[in-house]
Amino acid sequence: MITTQHIRDGYFGSFGGRFVPETLVPVLDELTHAYKQLRDDGDFQAEYAALLRDFVGRPTPLTHAQELSRRFGRAIWLKREDLCHTGAHKINNALGQGLLARKLGKTRIIAETGAGQHGVATASACALLGLECVIYMGVEDMRRQLPNVYRMRLLGADVRGVDSGSKTLKDAVNEALRDWVASVADTHYIIGSALGPHPFPSMVRDFQSVIGQETREEIVRRCGRLPDALLACVGGGSNAIGMFAPFVHDSQVRLIGVEAGGNGEALGQHAARFAGGTPGVFQGMSSLVLQNEDGQVLGTHSISAGLDYAAVGPEHAWLQEQGRAEYRRASDQQALAGFHLLSEAEGIIPALETSHAFGVLPEVAAELPSNGLVVINVSGRGDKDLAEVARLEGVDMGNGEVS
Ligand SMILES: *Cc1c(COP(=O)(O)O)cnc(C)c1O
Repeated sequence: MITTQHIRDGYFGSFGGRFVPETLVPVLDELTHAYKQLRDDGDFQAEYAALLRDFVGRPTPLTHAQELSRRFGRAIWLKREDLCHTGAHKINNALGQGLLARKLGKTRIIAETGAGQHGVATASACALLGLECVIYMGVEDMRRQLPNVYRMRLLGADVRGVDSGSKTLKDAVNEALRDWVASVADTHYIIGSALGPHPFPSMVRDFQSVIGQETREEIVRRCGRLPDALLACVGGGSNAIGMFAPFVHDSQVRLIGVEAGGNGEALGQHAARFAGGTPGVFQGMSSLVLQNEDGQVLGTHSISAGLDYAAVGPEHAWLQEQGRAEYRRASDQQALAGFHLLSEAEGIIPALETSHAFGVLPEVAAELPSNGLVVINVSGRGDKDLAEVARLEGVDMGNGEVS
């Protein structure tokens, strides 16, 4: 693992930091300290690398997308995180933090989940590592994601419904934080993306940077050079920062993140933090937040649950401010087009989150030189989204239930 940013007390420029109840400060200090040591600990890294290989199935392939390359007249390569065990990149982080928790002597894990993907990854990691696992989930999300609730329970997790507020992700986060304040002695909270209070954004980035490291080695081996651009979808930002981090100092490589443009420009109709957000504090960190003039955090919309979040990881906000990374939005419609594009052209059904990156591929490809080379991070597979796409496109799936 490599770290790319020098952090002053957990800040990326003016973004990041820690905005938490007093009781959590010593825990975050302990975690920061332990993580710094384990990052340089050969045994820990070897154990993590072995789990990535034997349990997750790493390294994931780098696939040359021949038909897309032909259509767009540029060399297009795919980093295949959809082939990770559990179907997305989230397991890289869940395993890393689970292992870290065990080293810290914690026996209990808590996490929150919206669509259930992070919950499933965490429950899998806990089953493997022999850790007790409690997952908080809004009851509204549970209703929408029953197959994932069942998966988590099969994996031995205690899934607790959260009935307050909007009964969705942000209420589950609040409940998980409340649990942590009361249980820090034996419990670690696995945050699922590169956000939250320091040290989470840096730690999650480091665990996910295996994506970018493998990409870098493989593209140099196969193509003899670095890519002109990297393309990744951005929810909280973990798959994108994991892909970008090992390339941050290569200024010739464009870093392009794609966020959810939803179904309109007005606040509430999208989750485009770079387009519509302003600096603010939300769920433990300072970052770009979709909020009104009074600092009231606004509702968001996206076709994909994983990109439907009002804030973004602080390192991304900083990379944009520095002009090092650029962020675009793909609408729900563009994402659906991207979903079909990759399915039909390459035989890979992507997650709806991932589909946003393919939604902007036509415009990005056109901006590259004619011998241009781009790598797209296929953050996850689309099996979980089939019922939703069928519903949106008016396709009758028969029993209406896929799992
Ligand atoms: C959760 C998820 C995302 C969004 O999260 P990031 O932290 O931004 O990576 C993207 N793709 C898939 C497949 C996901 O499950």
